[in-house]
Amino acid sequence: MLSHGRIPITEALLGAGAPPSGAGGEVCLHLQNGGAVLPAPEILKNGLVPLLERFSAARVVLEGVPYCFLGDRLPFYEYLVRNGDAAARFKPPACAACRLDGNCAGYPVQYRAYALARGPRAFIPDRPLEVMLEAEARCQFSCHYCFNQNTFASGAPARRGMVPGLSAAAVRDIADQLAAWGVPRLRFTGGEPLLRGDLPELMDHARSKELAVWVNTNGYGLGDPARARALCSRADNVLVSLRGWDAVSDEAESGCPGSFETSVTAARALRAAGVKTLRVGICATSAVVNNLDRVFRVVDSLQADRVEFYRPVQVKGKAPEASDLRLLVNKLLDRRLAGGSAAHIANPLPFCFYEEDKVNAVALGSVLAEGNNRFVVDPRGFCKPGYYMDVDLGDSRDLRAAWDSPFSRSVRSGELLPQACGGCFYAGKCRGGSRHAAWLNSGDFKAPDPLSRAGRML
Ligand code: SF4
Ligand code: SF4
Repeated sequence: MLSHGRIPITEALLGAGAPPSGAGGEVCLHLQNGGAVLPAPEILKNGLVPLLERFSAARVVLEGVPYCFLGDRLPFYEYLVRNGDAAARFKPPACAACRLDGNCAGYPVQYRAYALARGPRAFIPDRPLEVMLEAEARCQFSCHYCFNQNTFASGAPARRGMVPGLSAAAVRDIADQLAAWGVPRLRFTGGEPLLRGDLPELMDHARSKELAVWVNTNGYGLGDPARARALCSRADNVLVSLRGWDAVSDEAESGCPGSFETSVTAARALRAAGVKTLRVGICATSAVVNNLDRVFRVVDSLQADRVEFYRPVQVKGKAPEASDLRLLVNKLLDRRLAGGSAAHIANPLPFCFYEEDKVNAVALGSVLAEGNNRFVVDPRGFCKPGYYMDVDLGDSRDLRAAWDSPFSRSVRSGELLPQACGGCFYAGKCRGGSRHAAWLNSGDFKAPDPLSRAGRML
């Protein structure tokens, strides 16, 4: 437990615009026990995440706050909560179904009426936030770092054309399973999902089941305003990939002439067509990181809502350079200080490859990757923890069984966390970096990530 900077969570604090002066680098935000006057529960629930964001430069722990008050931001902040042994607690019957029941002492007694009124809506289910469906194996591009080379396109991107992919009936069944299970989101990805002629019909089917529909695309063909409008009418969120900052740099990675113009034109057409949320994703190659100002000029011109950078996944012996990633962290921090739009490193990276607090400020950690909180359906018809992990969790005709498979459980339970990560403040978010990188490096999913402090000492 952190020893200083204890700050009670009050309505005044929740309503304030900035952290109180004097708040140190380590802060314990806590709900007071006993007879203290607490914030009204709805005010706490609505103000908690903005409060945490105001303290984003500090190591914060949240004491006495029920996990379920973090809403859909729970995956990113779960590791901050300390509510297992708080006194004067009340647990309504709904808590028995919560996946965090064993770690959580419940609500402060002052919230008893609120807790009972929330009823069964409140508990946190043991199910993924999303399933990513590699709906189409083929792609027009042949990116050097393509994650597919670790799975269904093992050996060469050209192998993607040899994978027939899932039938329309299989995709519809996946959407039906997710809806029945209560999983809120289905993402269509690939390869390039727009190469599927039946994609609009499959998206419509998912929407008819009230699933949120996301799409990851290279944008091929979306320069046509009618196609962009058709996609926007069906997708809640679209990610367009980029590989460089101009035609030459982009083609150098994609191997496809015109790839830059294709993706940039698509992003502009989607914006013009009223896309709800536009994200841009780009692999943090050495060339990209060393030309980041140019990359951001392009991204800003596209008016993207969010930019995601990806630590390059090791393919064919190519490993990411720590020096490039350090530069990326520093430039993302500079951009944030300058008020630029949201930009993150979105896939697993061990925070201790550099200064942990800095990395934490710009990295999403592993909470949405490698089987944590979501998983992938491979075009060969089985489930796997992440795009680049060729681990068979089970047949896509039984998604719940895949989620309950021994490997899935070992990821989520922290069983695969390297010994060296024990006691690390960021273990719940960083989760030891990439288990895939550890396995590639040593043949052991429980080994340290090679970029981590422990991994570098091996
Ligand atoms: S155990 Fe109850 S109070 Fe705690 S997070 Fe779950 S639903 Fe909320
Ligand atoms: S010690 Fe482990 S959990 Fe902590 S930052 Fe390093 S890799 Fe991540």
